[in-house]
Amino acid sequence: MDGCIFCKIASGQIPSKKVYEDDSLIAFHDISPKAPVHVVVIPKLHIASTNDLKDIDDSLASHILKQLPKIAEMLNVSNSGYRVVINCGENGGQSVEHLHFHVLGGRILQWPPG
Ligand code: AMP
Ligand code: ZN
Repeated sequence: MDGCIFCKIASGQIPSKKVYEDDSLIAFHDISPKAPVHVVVIPKLHIASTNDLKDIDDSLASHILKQLPKIAEMLNVSNSGYRVVINCGENGGQSVEHLHFHVLGGRILQWPPG
């Protein structure tokens, strides 16, 4: 998708601090971390938001979900706990229109969010 910053990260056009990569997804450190551990997990395929999940294969959706705990383990937050956040649209606080999962941890996270 032209002009999409996360597509550019997925293709390597823009550098990132990569944590994990496979054929269908990439996980990298957030450039502006909101917690001691803050990684962004994206499908390589351009999907704008959760509203567009209906357009992807069930196998890709389940693959991404199942990698999240593995990525948490790589980041050493499995036992202490972590939060997975998907922002969608303006009220949800989505700033990049390419579906992404925030994996946050390394400290107690406030709930509910503001
Ligand atoms: P959201 O606000 O849910 O759309 O999240 C987008 C996230 O992407 C924010 O937390 C940004 O800090 C992060 N971000 C934006 N550009 C980059 C980049 N080039 N590398 C890493 N993270 C980025
Ligand atoms: Zn994209």
